[in-house]
Amino acid sequence: MVVFLQGRHNIGTIFLIMDKCFQQGFDAKSEQGFICTKLDSLINWVRANSIWPQPMGLACCAIELMGVGGSRFDIGRFGMEVMRFSPRQSDCMIVAGTVTYKMAGSVKRVYDQMAAPKWVVAMGACACSGGMFRTYSTLQGVDKVIPVDVYVAGCPTRPEALIDALMSLQNKIRSERSARGLFSK
Ligand code: SF4
Repeated sequence: MVVFLQGRHNIGTIFLIMDKCFQQGFDAKSEQGFICTKLDSLINWVRANSIWPQPMGLACCAIELMGVGGSRFDIGRFGMEVMRFSPRQSDCMIVAGTVTYKMAGSVKRVYDQMAAPKWVVAMGACACSGGMFRTYSTLQGVDKVIPVDVYVAGCPTRPEALIDALMSLQNKIRSERSARGLFSK
């Protein structure tokens, strides 16, 4: 079977994950080396386990975002430790902090430059709804300029809550109709 995938989700990644599957209980002898699955499941499996975040740290919540990269919370357990500061190399924007009108255009521009498929997590009260800042200068939620997949409450959001949100995002990715989007224009 030949599978064409976009961007960095390439064949090598699939084989790497399949290798892990073999080591964790797949009986290659009795199964004759074949796995039967839906293309959607295969693509979603790869995508959900290789999210590369684009950190959009705009205020204090960004400190908690940094916390998930440390050894205590270790986002690497979910295959998401590769934080990318280039939109070309990332597929999940984590908006952490207050989005001002001055910054909103830049947030949207970075989002637009990310290749599909891409997802957004709004981290903290400010990113979700403007938080306590009902002011002339603050955007009342980043979803006014870009689509948000998961909202995380809190001021500040704890790293555990962000990890929970990223696991929710993984579940969302697992239920997507990815194959249809792959082959249609
Ligand atoms: S939600 Fe609270 S901690 Fe997070 S950026 Fe806003 S004010 Fe700071």
